[in-house]
Amino acid sequence: MKIHEYQAKEILRQYGVPTPQGSVCFSVEEAIAVAQQLGGSMWVVKAQIHAGGRGQGGGVKVARSVSDVGMHAAQILGMKLVTHQTDVDGQLVKCLLIEEGVRIFKEYYVGMVIDRSKQCVVLMASSEGGMEIETVAAHSPEKIHKIWINPVTGLIDTEANSVARLIGIPNAALAQARACLQGLYQTFVEKDAILAEINPLVLTVDQNLLALDAKINFDSNALFRHPEIMALRDLNEEDPAEVEASKFDLSYIPLDGNIGCLVNGAGLAMATMDIIKLYGGLPANFLDVGGGASKEKVAEAFKLMLKNPKLRAILVNIFGGIMKCDVIAEGVVAAAREVYLKVPLVVRLEGTNVDLGKKILAESGLPIISAGDMAEAAAKVVAAAAEAERA
Ligand code: GDP
Ligand code: MN
Repeated sequence: MKIHEYQAKEILRQYGVPTPQGSVCFSVEEAIAVAQQLGGSMWVVKAQIHAGGRGQGGGVKVARSVSDVGMHAAQILGMKLVTHQTDVDGQLVKCLLIEEGVRIFKEYYVGMVIDRSKQCVVLMASSEGGMEIETVAAHSPEKIHKIWINPVTGLIDTEANSVARLIGIPNAALAQARACLQGLYQTFVEKDAILAEINPLVLTVDQNLLALDAKINFDSNALFRHPEIMALRDLNEEDPAEVEASKFDLSYIPLDGNIGCLVNGAGLAMATMDIIKLYGGLPANFLDVGGGASKEKVAEAFKLMLKNPKLRAILVNIFGGIMKCDVIAEGVVAAAREVYLKVPLVVRLEGTNVDLGKKILAESGLPIISAGDMAEAAAKVVAAAAEAERA
């Protein structure tokens, strides 16, 4: 799960990582009020979206007067911010962070992820802050320093010092660097993060270290023990189809193709997408209805797929193990009655209660194309989609 920069900074502050002063806001008036409250002569107006690269996309602006704060806020709020991490249409900005402006002397990068091969957290640090770390990794990998952190000891002082020195943090700021790095590590571990990044960590002209930007992604499987993190979820930033799917406990991932797939089991769903591609088609989604789906859940899954305007055909591929074929058949029939089924539907059923399932489909009066095995199902659905595309 992702959160906004202002939320990540609130968490980091709790762990002793210093950040600029600032406040979140949702309107131009609020932005101006926050700037006035902060005082000073320089402010930063920052779009809050769940994507990086905002600066280059025009979502981070430095203002030299309160009226400039208002102007930038008016410009950024409501814009569709396009960055290399959003899709081509961009992400609608509904929320801003207004901060005191910082006079930057030097920008650094520090970040942490889990290194599965070493079974611990790896700290990455670089003197090349402010840029994307992927670019640094591609062009000057020697400028990225890594430390694998022993989970028993945590990030100890001597390690934090040596990383700070390697990236060129001056001695005067070493204690602050330790606080930042150890605070970041504590956050990572205690909050069950999968990524925690400060880019840039800046040294100000008066030799203070501050987290100017912050990004934390959390392990969704650990959210049950972090209600305080779960409360930070912003559904505006998530794909509406995936949000809808999660309400019904369906695993649904929209894709670029035109053939909808409704399958039980993640493995079979992957195999179904593979075979569609093998036969020259493109899947419109990944959809696993799970093992013990009810008739209602299948109907919801169906409706979700049908919302996609690119959809030209559907393949239902079910192996009835725990899931029974008749339940699937009833769900398909119920959904098809509720929503107008405007695309051809190919069904391949096998396993528990298969005969009953086939009987329900046959007697439903729906124009279903049935298939005996996966190859036949894929060939038929690809042909049906191609024909619909021509029509
Ligand atoms: P990102 O582009 O989404 O990663 O957003 P950042 O929060 O990292 O901001 C992008 C860039 O804006 C930073 O690398 C800085 O160079 C600049 N920036 C952000 N805040 C300030 C500030 O307070 N003062 C100055 N001078 N520049 C800032
Ligand atoms: Mn950044």
